[in-house]
Amino acid sequence: MNVIKSFSDLQNAIEEIKNNKQSLGFVPTMGALHAGHLSLVEASKERCQQTAVSVFVNPMQFGPNEDLKQYPRPLEKDLAMCEQAGVDLVFVPSVEMMYPKNFSFKIMESFFSSHLCGAYRKGYFDGICTVVMKLLHLIPCDQLFMGLKDVEQVKVIEEMIKAFHLPVEMVACPTIREKNGLAMSSRNQYLSDQQREIARHLYQALCLIKETSQSGERVVQTLLGQAENYLQAYPEIKLQYLKILHWDDFLPPEKIEKKFVVALAAFVGSTRLIDNLIIDL
Ligand code: AMP
Repeated sequence: MNVIKSFSDLQNAIEEIKNNKQSLGFVPTMGALHAGHLSLVEASKERCQQTAVSVFVNPMQFGPNEDLKQYPRPLEKDLAMCEQAGVDLVFVPSVEMMYPKNFSFKIMESFFSSHLCGAYRKGYFDGICTVVMKLLHLIPCDQLFMGLKDVEQVKVIEEMIKAFHLPVEMVACPTIREKNGLAMSSRNQYLSDQQREIARHLYQALCLIKETSQSGERVVQTLLGQAENYLQAYPEIKLQYLKILHWDDFLPPEKIEKKFVVALAAFVGSTRLIDNLIIDL
């Protein structure tokens, strides 16, 4: 496995892949890898001849009071997991390389990122769009693998790919969960055992909406109200948002039809967790 820390080494590795006419899959991550990340690697290995992973905790997507400093960075363990998973190339840039002094550009998106996390985390999607745009230029892959756990990210990046005519195909992969239903996340390691047990009710609340909508309920307020009531039994969970959006236009409807996403963000203690379900009636 090729661990690359400089632009020149990256350029050489990419050139070799292109010269060999091999297809390239790319999995961008912030490290602290878990089975969710590895499922993206697996998907890439199934579809592409070469798989690249990036490990970069992107400061531009963290707000001033968020966990940038605290965010876990177990690089050696991450590299061992990548090696074990059969990754071909891991790109580990430094902050100084990605954002040299006086870096003054930003990719901004103002519609698809305005409903869910983007509405609560100022600058979050500017940071994501900017770093993904940079990474896609550095690692010109055929297929980009992202997790539906971050459903708003998938939508925004899909739209960015279209908007800027980027020659890459997005492959959105399903959310991998713990046995108790909790969506896997690098931030789950902030949770105590007791908090993990409580956090599983976030997924249960989403499942409740799935069941009720599949039994015929169409009114969004009723569906959301039922899940909010369910979560009220767990005062340790502080819901930040619980929303339903239609899949196609990513707008909040009064009544659901066909494919929609129900998404939430909540604090359990000081840990912010997100989850969602995509439901196709
Ligand atoms: P992150 O390191 O949190 O930026 O995540 C890197 C990629 O892994 C993103 O595309 C995430 O959506 C994806 N990912 C994170 N957690 C999961 C999960 N539980 N299941 C599937 N994909 C995930």
